[in-house]
Amino acid sequence: MQKQNLVVFVGGVGGARFTRGLVAELERRHPSPAERPNVTAIVNTGDDAWIAGLRVTPDLDSMMYTLAGVNDEQRGWGRAGESERVSAELAAYGVGWPWFTLGDLDLGTHIARTAMLREGLSLTSAVERLTARWNDGAGLPVRLLPMTDSEVETHVEVDRGEGPELIHFEEWWVRYRAALPTTRFEQVGLQGASTTWQVREAIEQADALLLAPSNPVVSIGTILAVPGVREALAAASAPVIGVSPIIAGRVVRGMADACLSAIGVETSSAAVAEFYGARRRRNGILDGWLVAEEDADAVSRVEALGIRTRAVPLWMKDAASSAALAGAALDFAAEF
Ligand code: GDP
Ligand code: CA
Repeated sequence: MQKQNLVVFVGGVGGARFTRGLVAELERRHPSPAERPNVTAIVNTGDDAWIAGLRVTPDLDSMMYTLAGVNDEQRGWGRAGESERVSAELAAYGVGWPWFTLGDLDLGTHIARTAMLREGLSLTSAVERLTARWNDGAGLPVRLLPMTDSEVETHVEVDRGEGPELIHFEEWWVRYRAALPTTRFEQVGLQGASTTWQVREAIEQADALLLAPSNPVVSIGTILAVPGVREALAAASAPVIGVSPIIAGRVVRGMADACLSAIGVETSSAAVAEFYGARRRRNGILDGWLVAEEDADAVSRVEALGIRTRAVPLWMKDAASSAALAGAALDFAAEF
């Protein structure tokens, strides 16, 4: 039997949890690596930034560290066992973003990545090289593909008292805790950018396309905004199954509700499904949608949009529940 190809669209922490669950579930279902499906993650790079002369890619790194098993589980981001000596020196020089601390081990990654980009590698190739070292050189269980090789950065329109201005998404998110009012996100650099042939090929060859329960606006929404992605999804033969990041009207972790309300989308699993839209209708992307059992009353509302919907346990509390959620997405995809 030919190996299946699975593709998952992800942001950072929520995406990494889901993908780790997917890997565990596939290992359980297919003990023999020879029969285990290939997994490719298409990763948001809209949160990327130049900081202290280094190209920093937060969502790609959350994915890489989590899948390599070296992430800081307690803090939720960065490397475990981290120190911050270099960051303190940078702050003393007034270089970088003082509200965006980069640990020493993490800075090693950013220096390596920046060196590769400076040598002329594309981000896709740099990520391939960065991910190869983990697991004693065996690499990650998932292939990571940046959504684009172009520099596309999400900026947020705010007013700090001097009229409307655009600030980097990470500044709005981390420095201002998403508390500065906004009504607009802009992907700076999107014009003239496109997705990569690797992303297009992965979507085309997929047997199932999964949307992780990542931030619908600034993680999944940003990937969908890259020219070529929606077209590839529209043409794909595989079903597109989304997992709701909203449970009982609340974001599970973080502040994604601030992003939804900024663009006028209600914080509910049905409203997010409507925001994504049905694939068979104009501009939509979803064939199937998983909502939480707590949101079972949303099923008929979403199905009326032309999206097949199931209610399943959606909390990724631990390894077992994350694997079970990924399993539910795989089983649902197999029904199409
Ligand atoms: P970020 O880039 O680090 O913000 O991470 P993502 O965009 O990948 O994911 C953030 C989203 O994950 C949040 O908006 C949450 O709603 C969602 N999320 C986090 N934990 C869970 C969970 O246990 N279950 C579900 N369904 N969603 C979750
Ligand atoms: Ca992110």
